[in-house]
Amino acid sequence: MPRPLKSSTLAALKDLVGTDSWLTGGDVTSFTRDFRGLYQGNTPLVLLPRSSDQVSEILKFCDQYEIAVVPQGGNTSYCGAATPDESGSQIVLSMRRLKKIREVDASNNSMIVEAGCTLAEVHAAARDADRLFPLSLGSEGTAQIGGNLSTNAGGTAVLRYGMMRDLVFGLEVVLADGRVLSSLKSLRKDNTGYDLKSLFIGAEGTLGVITAASLKLYSLPTASATAVIGVASPRDALNLFDRLRRSSGDTLSTFELMPRRAVELACAYIEGVANPVDQPAPWYLLIELTSSNLTHSLAELLSTELAEMLGAGVVQNGVIATSLTQAAAMWKLRESIPEAQRRHGASLKHDISVPLSAIPTLIEAGSAIIRRLVPEGEVIAYGHLGDGNLHFNVSQLVGSDLVAFKNRGSALQSAIFDLVESLNGSISAEHGIGRLKAAEFAQRADPIELNVMLNIKRGLDPKGILNPGKVFL
Ligand SMILES: Cc1cc2nc3c(=O)[nH]c(=O)nc-3n(C[C@H](O)[C@H](O)[C@H](O)COP(=O)(O)OP(=O)(O)OC[C@H]3O[C@@H](n4cnc5c(N)ncnc54)[C@H](O)[C@@H]3O)c2cc1C
Repeated sequence: MPRPLKSSTLAALKDLVGTDSWLTGGDVTSFTRDFRGLYQGNTPLVLLPRSSDQVSEILKFCDQYEIAVVPQGGNTSYCGAATPDESGSQIVLSMRRLKKIREVDASNNSMIVEAGCTLAEVHAAARDADRLFPLSLGSEGTAQIGGNLSTNAGGTAVLRYGMMRDLVFGLEVVLADGRVLSSLKSLRKDNTGYDLKSLFIGAEGTLGVITAASLKLYSLPTASATAVIGVASPRDALNLFDRLRRSSGDTLSTFELMPRRAVELACAYIEGVANPVDQPAPWYLLIELTSSNLTHSLAELLSTELAEMLGAGVVQNGVIATSLTQAAAMWKLRESIPEAQRRHGASLKHDISVPLSAIPTLIEAGSAIIRRLVPEGEVIAYGHLGDGNLHFNVSQLVGSDLVAFKNRGSALQSAIFDLVESLNGSISAEHGIGRLKAAEFAQRADPIELNVMLNIKRGLDPKGILNPGKVFL
């Protein structure tokens, strides 16, 4: 167990980074509370290194004196993964000053960036080179590449480009003992031994601190077609997905499910958000096709397919954007849902995935569980239908008892996770385990998988200084 920190130890850590690169006292408040406000931790010190060398010095020291280190990116984790515990014995290592774009190689479709660059900054640097970095999240202005890597983030473009793991050539990682593992190669083919970078992707800061990454770039789309479509049921949504996937080839890049209630909340709480479809439908879909081939008429393709599906009774109604402004408004509708849900009141959240074919059963059985176990709540299940990943959330009903609502959380989570397991799904699709799901993970993980993971953890961080209490209990 890490020891309580002495003032001489804190002074030595401050010396490692220099005068303007650490924070204490009241200045650490925003680093100790997680984005969802689930945990209020405590730390005597936040370090703000400017280079991989400084990160290396810090970890060497912390390993020697067994000081627990919590790596922190944009602190947008949905599962309390990036904040220190309440003990006051963990220091925070903020990556926000490692911000260099080290290299953009347009002809190799690759770029090397430091971990503290925000996702939006990486998008902009790629765009300046006439390229696309396709990871797309609502938190892109704050979340950092190091955090995206450490959570193996997903988002709204996974259908076409994959998750963060699929978008990486190589990593630079500082190991727990301060050694720097540098595999910043930008190669499409490299079969020299084990794929070590994969270990650190999705490790939530428990195996090493990522300081830089070589990322994959793509051609910028030159054509797109965006639509909001109303359907009667998740089964109809799946039928439409199947049809579009077959007819539009690899141009189908987004297929997001939004229940009517989520759309109503977004319109009510977020300024400038409106439902483009004037007749109500129980479920809506945000669909986008994109292509780098100018000869494709994507709007024509989408409109032909939707007309046929309307005739077949699969689609109820819908609108295809006729301008980029209208397309942006459709995206705003989808991206406003988490914030609208937050403003509406308390919520219980489950980030889960199942095979696509099980989505209708998940929604039907999951909603029945919620109605039975949480009379103070209403189901808001939305998300990345094309990836089999839903945010199966519950919002507190206005005027209901907040304490009673929150107290239902644990029994509800168990019941939803049981359902997910029965459908061969995952209890964490894209947000990770963090602190929030560590107990469930310990209980539900395959014992051999868990044992191998713990052996890897012990091998890379024998003193357990990296992000203790996250992922593993
Ligand atoms: C509005 C909103 C929308 C979101 N939408 C999505 C979505 O669509 N898909 C999705 O997957 N997630 C989503 N998220 C969750 C979150 O934004 C992502 O998990 C994101 O990747 C976290 O990045 P971050 O920089 O904020 O990481 P943090 O929250 O700071 O950290 C996350 C984890 O990574 C570790 N870490 C951070 N940086 C490093 C580093 N350099 N080296 C080692 N470990 C590190 C931390 O210790 C922690 O365990 C959303 C969040 C918000 C608030």
